[in-house]
Amino acid sequence: APARIAVTGLAVMGSNLARNLARHGYRVAVHNRTPARTKALMREHGHEGEFVPAETLSELVESLATPRQIIIMVKAGTPTDAVIDELAPLLGPGDMVIDGGNAHFADTRRREAALRERGLHFVGAGISGGEEGALNGPSIMPGGSAESYKHVGPVLESIAAQVDGVPCCVHVGPDGAGHFVKMVHNGIEYADMQLIAEAYDLLHRVGGRGPAEVGEVFRDWDRGDLESYLVEITAEVLGHVDPDTGAALVDVIADEAEQKGTGRWTVQEALELGVPVTGIAEAVFARSLSGRVGQRAAARAAFGASEVIPSPDDDLVEDVRLALYASKVVAYAQGFDQMRAASVEYGWDLDLGAAATIWRGGCIIRARFLDRIREAYDRNPDLPSLLVDDYFRDAVVRAEQAWRRVVVKAINAGVPVPGFVSALAYYDALRSERLPAALVQGLRDFFGAHTYRRVDREGSFHTLWSGDRSQVDA
Ligand code: NDP
Repeated sequence: APARIAVTGLAVMGSNLARNLARHGYRVAVHNRTPARTKALMREHGHEGEFVPAETLSELVESLATPRQIIIMVKAGTPTDAVIDELAPLLGPGDMVIDGGNAHFADTRRREAALRERGLHFVGAGISGGEEGALNGPSIMPGGSAESYKHVGPVLESIAAQVDGVPCCVHVGPDGAGHFVKMVHNGIEYADMQLIAEAYDLLHRVGGRGPAEVGEVFRDWDRGDLESYLVEITAEVLGHVDPDTGAALVDVIADEAEQKGTGRWTVQEALELGVPVTGIAEAVFARSLSGRVGQRAAARAAFGASEVIPSPDDDLVEDVRLALYASKVVAYAQGFDQMRAASVEYGWDLDLGAAATIWRGGCIIRARFLDRIREAYDRNPDLPSLLVDDYFRDAVVRAEQAWRRVVVKAINAGVPVPGFVSALAYYDALRSERLPAALVQGLRDFFGAHTYRRVDREGSFHTLWSGDRSQVDA
């Protein structure tokens, strides 16, 4: 019998996805450029379901029922183009190519347009959850035509993570929408981790608690509003003892955070769209700063290493919890803003509640919190900002005084909390009656005759700064 779907690219992600498909009863054709991987999959996992191994891409294509559905799970970038170029001539009208790799959404837009020209469907599907997710239920963000989703959707939904019986897979929108949403997911993941790290630093250095003790605090937080995968694994990491030294593992890990680039993509694209994603940007920059070892050493030598004298107080844990929650609301609000802006820019008509639904399970930022976000967009799909939804507004109002105390405390102690500070500044800026942007406009008009608008009448104006300083219509 012909196979229902195919996977090409059988490294860890592709082979786990193929096994997930097979375990769900699909007959899966499998292929890898280097046949050894295909053989290894058959040898080690062939008994888990119905696999159809193929030596070549044309063999793979021939083994499929039409319209054909082929998932590409290879290294992102030129390897993906190489596979598409080899595959496309073998396919017929209506066939579907699904890219599950970490593609940049602009590449996905380009590939979708190129394949559409040839009568083929291209589905750019963001897949999150790592190898474990690929095997047991990832979070899937498919973009592409509605027509292709009719065929591909049910399969992807069945292998995705399920939360309360709802799959963490929804058709996100056309062309690059899926990979865009995946990109923002990763950006939010950066922000979330940075905020968690700042909370730890405060409880550790200001609160005078050891890593394991802070780990217990996180374990406790995981039973409340902050319940999430990242908070849960923070407790695990902080509680882990290094077998070599007997010290807390976190104390022997080099404090230079690395990045593979998806956070940077999010910020780059936010700059293009003009959306302030300060939480994600601070997180990306905090990682960059941590890696500037030479500068850090020079600064320590010049200024002396900052010495923090612990000043624990009874409220610190609860204050930090509230500050973390409020800052997290801001980071998510900014990420959702970015998706909304992209939706307008690229004509995607994104359903933001769908993104929240997808992220409830299977992915790194899965959290109880996402239910609240989905409910917020259910209440009002055109929410101007997540912050102004009743639920989140109340949460932020409840947290506000604690948030300010934490930021002040951190600043006075010399503990850097760029995530907390920038989130608070964003909140204060959004709700300000007047912003000093008025002065910025005045300065721009002074040196560059860039003109300004007035609060009391229509039109654009310029002041003759170097003349008699009268105002003229611009
Ligand atoms: P890798 O990214 O390490 O890629 C290895 C696979 O790509 C192998 O199957 C390899 O074939 C194939 N490949 C590389 N170059 C070519 C080429 N020119 N032509 C054909 N095949 C090629 O594999 P992963 O399983 O780690 O990741 C697969 C995709 O999933 C990537 O896009 C990655 O970014 C993404 N990913 C997603 C994660 C997530 O959590 N969502 C986690 C990890 C990865 P060969 O064996 O012949 O070398």
